[in-house]
Amino acid sequence: MAEEKDYYKILGVERNATADEIKRAYKKVAIKYHPDRNEGDKAAEEKFKQAAEAYNVLSDPDKRARYDQFGAEGVDGAGGFGGAGMDLNDIFRNFGDIFGGFGGFGGFGGFGGGGQARPRQFKGSDMRMKVKLTLEEIATGVTKKFKVRKDITCPDCGGNGCEKGHNPETCPACHGTGHVTTTRRTMLGMIQQQEVCRQCHGQGTIISHPCSKCHGQGTIPGEEIVEITIPSGVAEGMMLNVPGKGNAAPRGGVPGDIQVIIEEIPHADFIRDENDLIHNLLLTVPQAALGDTVEVPTLTGKARIKIEPGTQPGTALRLRGKGLPAVQGYGYGTGDIVVNISVYIPEHLDKKEREHFEALRDSNHIQAAHSVKEKIFRAFRNYFNK
Ligand SMILES: [Zn+2]
Ligand SMILES: [Zn+2]
Repeated sequence: MAEEKDYYKILGVERNATADEIKRAYKKVAIKYHPDRNEGDKAAEEKFKQAAEAYNVLSDPDKRARYDQFGAEGVDGAGGFGGAGMDLNDIFRNFGDIFGGFGGFGGFGGFGGGGQARPRQFKGSDMRMKVKLTLEEIATGVTKKFKVRKDITCPDCGGNGCEKGHNPETCPACHGTGHVTTTRRTMLGMIQQQEVCRQCHGQGTIISHPCSKCHGQGTIPGEEIVEITIPSGVAEGMMLNVPGKGNAAPRGGVPGDIQVIIEEIPHADFIRDENDLIHNLLLTVPQAALGDTVEVPTLTGKARIKIEPGTQPGTALRLRGKGLPAVQGYGYGTGDIVVNISVYIPEHLDKKEREHFEALRDSNHIQAAHSVKEKIFRAFRNYFNK
């Protein structure tokens, strides 16, 4: 095996250094060997990586204890860097914040603050589609498949945009960072500015042998079967975001999303009111006067309800919990089926029927008492006030 690495020596601290001393020492070494200040210097880059590896271990009390006891071997298999050398991007990602206080160094600006200056990735564009649902589908939630026309990853190059046998090459202008730093002399002194690299448009790579199918784009127009799961309880006009199912991104970036807009198909038996379902039940005059047991539809079948003798039009009978469920995280709780009573008045009467109604015209109970008129009016008003 390679000679034992001495992490304390790499950072230049004593074996009993405090966490703070280790952090300060790492900053010092990292600034000294930072790639921005040592462009093209492989030895400096190696030292920079070693320092990051040392700091990764010594800044973690657990890893440090194992390292003290077992040496570098003790931490390798357990979340160390395995000695195989770290990627510079990993270092900036993990320890970028340590440079946060050094904004004054033009060259560091890009790497501090969580690695904003990493090469750009393309993002595929979002798509919108409407999905029509029945109330039955809304009641249970549903998974549907759609054939969607969209940009798909180029099958010839797998999305990297290169002709077979070639790979994207590190951009010579920005050395793969996607950014270039320019220095201008102004009245106020030297000003350093970071700009998106013009040669690679911030990607950090260039394609010298573009794929002939997609012309280096990495995507082609195509079709894909997309499966979309819609939760129960959704309503007309709601929008669901389905991440990653939109257009594929140029050159292997992040695909866009699909925004699904819900449309309700009108139902033959119900009008939706939030999570309640209103059903209009038309009784005959005898049913309303004498009482009856009748069937009403539900979203899953039928239910029987009892009509009391003397039931008035405008009466609302509730089938609790037979409405729509609340959409996840929102809502009103599971709704009811509200049966609104109407009464059918016969439009055509034969001779015998006419005699029955004539006989009823002046009978004792055919006129509504004042209290009943008021009750019917209250029901009528409640129905509209809700
Ligand atoms: Zn291609
Ligand atoms: Zn570039």
